[in-house]
Amino acid sequence: MSEINYNNLIFKGELPLIPLKNVVLFPRVAIPLLVQRSKSMGSLDYALSQDRLVVFVAQKNIYDDVDQKDLFRVGTVGRIFEIHRLPDGTSKIDVEGIARVKIKEISQIDPFFKAKVELVKSQTAESIETEALVRATVNEFKRLLEVRTIPLASAFPDLINALDQIKDAQQIVDLIAINLNLELSDQQDILETFDAVDALKKINFFISRELEIIEAEKKVVRETRKQLGKMQKEMFLREQMKSIEKELGLDSEKSEIETLQAKIKAAGMPKDTEAKALKELSRFEKMSSFSPEVSYLRTYLDWLVELPWSKKSTSKIDLREAEKILNDDHYGLKKVKERIVEYLAVQKQVGKIKGPILCFVGPPGTGKTSIGRSIARALGRKFARVSLGGLRDEAEIRGHRRTYVGALPGRIVQGIHQVGTRNPVFMLDEIDKIGMDFRGDPSAALLEALDTEQNFAFSDHYLEVPFDLSDTLFIATANMLDTIPPALRDRLELIEFPGYTETEKLHIAKKYLLPKIFKEHGLKEKTIKFYDLAVADIIRKHTREAGVRDLERQLATIIRKITRKIVEKKTRGIIAILPESIHSYLGAVKYSHQEAEKTDEIGVTTGLAWTPVGGEVLSIEASKMPGRGKLLLTGHLGEVMRESVHAALSYTRSKAAKLGIKEDFYKEDIHVHVPSGAIPKDGPSAGIAMAIAIISLFTKNPVRKDVCMTGEVTLRGKILEIGGVKEKILAAHRAGLKTVILPFDNKKDLDDIPAEIRRDLKFRFVRDIDEVLKVALKNGKA
Ligand code: ADP
Repeated sequence: MSEINYNNLIFKGELPLIPLKNVVLFPRVAIPLLVQRSKSMGSLDYALSQDRLVVFVAQKNIYDDVDQKDLFRVGTVGRIFEIHRLPDGTSKIDVEGIARVKIKEISQIDPFFKAKVELVKSQTAESIETEALVRATVNEFKRLLEVRTIPLASAFPDLINALDQIKDAQQIVDLIAINLNLELSDQQDILETFDAVDALKKINFFISRELEIIEAEKKVVRETRKQLGKMQKEMFLREQMKSIEKELGLDSEKSEIETLQAKIKAAGMPKDTEAKALKELSRFEKMSSFSPEVSYLRTYLDWLVELPWSKKSTSKIDLREAEKILNDDHYGLKKVKERIVEYLAVQKQVGKIKGPILCFVGPPGTGKTSIGRSIARALGRKFARVSLGGLRDEAEIRGHRRTYVGALPGRIVQGIHQVGTRNPVFMLDEIDKIGMDFRGDPSAALLEALDTEQNFAFSDHYLEVPFDLSDTLFIATANMLDTIPPALRDRLELIEFPGYTETEKLHIAKKYLLPKIFKEHGLKEKTIKFYDLAVADIIRKHTREAGVRDLERQLATIIRKITRKIVEKKTRGIIAILPESIHSYLGAVKYSHQEAEKTDEIGVTTGLAWTPVGGEVLSIEASKMPGRGKLLLTGHLGEVMRESVHAALSYTRSKAAKLGIKEDFYKEDIHVHVPSGAIPKDGPSAGIAMAIAIISLFTKNPVRKDVCMTGEVTLRGKILEIGGVKEKILAAHRAGLKTVILPFDNKKDLDDIPAEIRRDLKFRFVRDIDEVLKVALKNGKA
């Protein structure tokens, strides 16, 4: 390198200029460059014709075509000391940087750049601090060189040696800067920092940053290696294990695939399903055992393999046999059994399950499930049952897609899977309790499953393949009709289970429940003798239900306690259960049913209500007090019931004159109360009882104590038909009432009432309030 006193250099006139992409030329550093652009070639040729000096300036972007505003304003004058013309017309040159210059002016743009420049003089004062900084920087840089693996940018022959010898701070800066792998902007920053001490500080910063990056990189590499080493070791061990297993004939993985394959072939799947299963199996086979998907896929394959694609019970429909089984298992329910046998007759005739789905509607414990079981027994099929109560998510019916974590098929497919045949009697319990929300509409999925036209290809999201449900005999159950979604209701053939009378319950207890419980407890029937009166007392005082579920529980409690005594040898011989003994087994009386009123009273009527657990007798009380015509309603009344009080009041007002009531009676405050506040009450059927209570109150005509009533009232006093007649009549009978007032249109319902009850009661069918008044009020007419 030539010895030049840089501070004395003067660049007169213009110099050719070559823009540099992504690199900065530093003074006293030699680098190779490739000259490609025609404009740069122009500068090069011009320089070669002169004294080989060129101004090299970095450009701010990387475009080929640059304008003067794209160029930085500080560059380096360099001398070309070597040139190789390459065959493609470009040239490779070796350049040595000479001095920093400021561009004063770009004096020519075409055909190539020329510029007027001014030398930047070194401004560094020599001092101890500068020297210390230089030394520290050089040491840091050496440390960097030791750890760094990337090749140096400069073709400096012996960099470390050179660094030791150079004393000039500026030169050290330039030499290190070019070897630091800096971004263009950082390189240019160093070039433009004319004070060497400042530049050294920057260099120092860049070096430590580089060192930190390298340290971090190393750490990453170290850890990856460690991890890899562990995995390789595991893999190696696994491979070894496999070959050992192979040697010993325990080649489990292979046989797992083979067994699955055999199972798929044997599962009797439809062709497409089998193809899908085999495809998934081959995916399973290829999958690394490390993949988290392995266990999901395995579960999926197990589901496919285990479903009864073509497995059926040999089902026969023998009507006489069916009727016998239904009768053997259940007391009463004559109409229900008839309807079921008819239904089976149709199925037999058609040869396939077609048409509407049976739906058993009635209070809990009335034998819906157990009739379902008997149907399965009569048909020789298996019995599956799922409860739909509280279900809100469509995926519960149709399954979750497999992408969902913990996905499983829906309840229908699960039920089928559980029984293992595809033609069971499938009971869908509590169909009236399914809801709907943002997760989709379960009833829509249910409709698809129940529709005999399309359920031969029921699609479950999890299975992804259709499943044939067309041979499944679905039976739905519900406690009430109102809440069944209408679209679903259309598909159902309703069979009502109305609830039992006390006499019926007594029969059921003696003939069916007790023998069953005895058997369950390993006792002989003769061991315990239940007297009828005792059973009747249990029915009346320890249960309140339309069905017999609680009765069954109470009987079981007694028998359990006796069994214990027998086992503990505390008792011998035949044990008699009399009404008096019940207390010692079941404790205090739990329910006292509303009894008939003791005396005829003004403003108090006896209404009849239907609740999901059976009929109830309700007292309805009306009273008045001075005020400003407010209507107060208490006793946990539902919206519809409240409205019916208003309607009754409006009727009374419109007929006040005729009824002999003061025209402005309503100006007093009226309070209507229905006791037993804990029982929610609703529905329009207490309308006439409300109206009569109000009329009785204002006419001061007492209501007959042995009369009860049910019916909806219109504003014109007409009486409309109501539901739940059987339950209501049973409740009236239980309460010891004598006369029941019913809407005229409910006359037909009397056929369902057992004869012994009809015998004890008088029925009055009415069309309007006038007729009610004649029967209900003590003085005949208001
Ligand atoms: P549900 O499904 O309507 O809630 P279940 O079928 O579970 O009621 O009946 C409850 C219990 O009462 C069962 O043990 C059932 O056998 C018995 N049961 C109900 N009705 C009768 C009946 N008519 N004859 C004999 N047992 C009955």
